[in-house]
Amino acid sequence: MNTQELNISKEIWEKDQAHLIHPYTNYKKFNTEGSVVYAKGEKHWIFDADGNKYLDGIAGLWCVNVGHGREDIAEIMAAEASKLAYYNTFEDATSIPAAELAAKLAEIAPENLNHVFFGTGGSMANDTAIKMAHYYFNLKGLPKKKKVISRDLAYHGSTFLAHTLTGIHSTHIGFDLVKDLVHYVSAPYTYRRPAELTEEEFCDFLIKELEDKINEVGADEIACFIAEPILGAGGVLVPPKGYHKRTWELCQKNDILYISDEVVTAFGRLGEMIASESIYDVKPDILVMAKGISSGYIPLGATMISDEIFEVISQPKEGNPYFSHGFTYSGHPLACAVGLKNIEIMENEHFCEHVQNLGPYFETQLASLSDLPIVGDIRGSKFMLCVECVKDKNTKEGFADEVTIAKRIYYHAKERGLIVRPLGSLLVLSPPLTFDKDAIDECVYILRESILASMEDLI
Ligand code: PLP
Repeated sequence: MNTQELNISKEIWEKDQAHLIHPYTNYKKFNTEGSVVYAKGEKHWIFDADGNKYLDGIAGLWCVNVGHGREDIAEIMAAEASKLAYYNTFEDATSIPAAELAAKLAEIAPENLNHVFFGTGGSMANDTAIKMAHYYFNLKGLPKKKKVISRDLAYHGSTFLAHTLTGIHSTHIGFDLVKDLVHYVSAPYTYRRPAELTEEEFCDFLIKELEDKINEVGADEIACFIAEPILGAGGVLVPPKGYHKRTWELCQKNDILYISDEVVTAFGRLGEMIASESIYDVKPDILVMAKGISSGYIPLGATMISDEIFEVISQPKEGNPYFSHGFTYSGHPLACAVGLKNIEIMENEHFCEHVQNLGPYFETQLASLSDLPIVGDIRGSKFMLCVECVKDKNTKEGFADEVTIAKRIYYHAKERGLIVRPLGSLLVLSPPLTFDKDAIDECVYILRESILASMEDLI
């Protein structure tokens, strides 16, 4: 370790603690535990300012899909910034990268989705989706259709509206979010389903619950249903087989728009550029993307809508001539140029095929941890995985909050050179798609050692 770097880390950390507000952070713990200053990234490794190297098990925050430190993306950013760092896309203005990226997304998205609205992230893209759904039904002469169905444990973001869509109810405490707009149905938490139900019966139960909810709220008052194909921050919850298609069919039957929030799942994490149709046989009316769209190199989000929605919302009406929605950075040329380059890299370097080939190996290796006494469930798909820790495997009883089991394991893993994401009693893995067999083996080995070390702590 180099002393000069250590001083940099200390100096930065002091400035940070004094002035930077961190998202979703418990300040009581944070001020005593301190944290880590990340300084450099390379493929699936990251380095802190003290020169320590870690395997990045979470791709920054489910986003650095093509890996850290890509010179080709840095070059595009520099070239674009010196050409046209910014221009807006309001009215008749556009830029080459914005138009090119919109066309590219239309090419890779399901066939009916050909129109895209850009923003700077997932929350904004979800806000846009809901506003579009409302506007669409207003123009269609169905102004009562406004309510949204979301799910417990869903994560859709942190803006006022996106937070309301989010079904992690503990995060709502202390905020006065929008009342009576969003109605929630149960999370498709297969591991914690009622004990008497098989997985198939659990699926029937969830579908029946959604049907009942539609009837209770009234289809004529519901604009849309919003769903992540696999719930991410809520616990990497993989719905039971058949669930996606059946929820989509219910929406179709009741004239409810289906919004697929693919902020995490798109761009290769599940081995497909877009998962909704290719994997789950669902044709969303609105598709929401962010994170992997630019591999996190620059803030970018996108809301794609069907031809049918576009036709309606783009038709001027007297007194309501246009969809009054837009951001300074909608279609930012630099961000769109990065998005284009990112997709080009993914295609040229066959990232989806890599994830399809190696995903099952990752799943199997991770599953080998199931012999550990505190590992209750291992779930997920391909490069979106999770380990749920429990106190008692038979009863599935969880650890008390104060045990902070996942945080404990996180610290042990970090000491051994791996970053995982602790969420309650869960350890989330969503690494860069550059992860190879060696990285997977190292990741699973460190996780095993870290879980064992945490068990020792508890004796
Ligand atoms: N939707 C999903 C599924 C997410 O996982 C996230 C962020 O993690 C968001 C939306 C919000 O995205 P952002 O943080 O870019 O606003």
